[in-house]
Parts: sequence; structure tokens; C-alpha cells
Amino acid sequence: MVIYDLQCSNQHQFEGWFKNADDLVSQQASGLLTCPFCNSSEVSKKLTAAKVGRKSNSVSSPAPVEPNSQAAQAMPSDGAKAYAQLQKMLSDVHQHIDRNFVDVGNKFADEALKIHNGEKDPENIRGTASKAELKELAEEGVSALPLPPKPVNKDKLN
Ligand SMILES: [Zn+2]
Repeated sequence: MVIYDLQCSNQHQFEGWFKNADDLVSQQASGLLTCPFCNSSEVSKKLTAAKVGRKSNSVSSPAPVEPNSQAAQAMPSDGAKAYAQLQKMLSDVHQHIDRNFVDVGNKFADEALKIHNGEKDPENIRGTASKAELKELAEEGVSALPLPPKPVNKDKLN
């Protein structure tokens, strides 16, 4: 005797008892297998993939991950490697920007507009801007690139 979790085309879930796996297939084929709730004969074995999918989704969720958090530790090794690479890239980007861009703090939108309007010599600037300010800049035709946050790597601090 085998018991299968079954599901009909209307998503009803129920158990079916069979002599063996072949019995399930032949009952399916002959239309004998029907849903006890709606009598639909489109009944199939419930896919266990849904469970697997839910698990892997939580691992690859884009939620912010701190290096020492549980989420990071739960990552498969590939994920951890990719995360380390991403962290390296991010810190390279930040290093480049630290060296080549003038920090204007929260005056970013003002300064960017001044440069755009020719009131100030062109230079690379970095700083913080609100969403509204960024929208304003975009409308003025000023190109500004949002920057991902600086990675925190507690392990590699010297
Ligand atoms: Zn049904």
C-alpha cells in the first residue's frame, strides 16, 4: 500500500491510497481517480517542489545581509563566495570614489545643479541626496548614480 498526496486541478489536496505506483498511474489514466471535493478527474501527485522552492527563496532573498548575521551563515558556499566577490567589488568602487570624487555631503543636489548650470567648475562629486532631490536632478538632466552602501567587512579590518 502506498499513500500519495494528491491535488486536483482546483488545488484541492487529499490523500490517495494505492496498491503501488502503477495503480496510481492506471487509475489516473482510466479516470477512476477523482477529487473527493469537486469530482474533478484531473488529479495529480502533489509537487513537493513547492517546499524546496520556498527554502531556496529564503536563502537567495535580496534582504540586506550582514557578514555575521545568521542569513549569511545559512548561505550555500556558492552564495557566500558570490557575496564576498560582490563585497570586494563594492569596496573597490567606494575606494575609487573616495579618491576621485569630492565629498559634498548633503549638498549633493545643490552642487550637482551648480555644475550642471555652469555656476561651478565641473568636477566629480559625491554626497547624499533624498529621493525627491534625485528626481529633481533627473528632470534637470543631471546624471547622478545611486551608490550601494559601503560594505562592512569586520573580518578584514586591520
Ligand atoms: Zn477538487
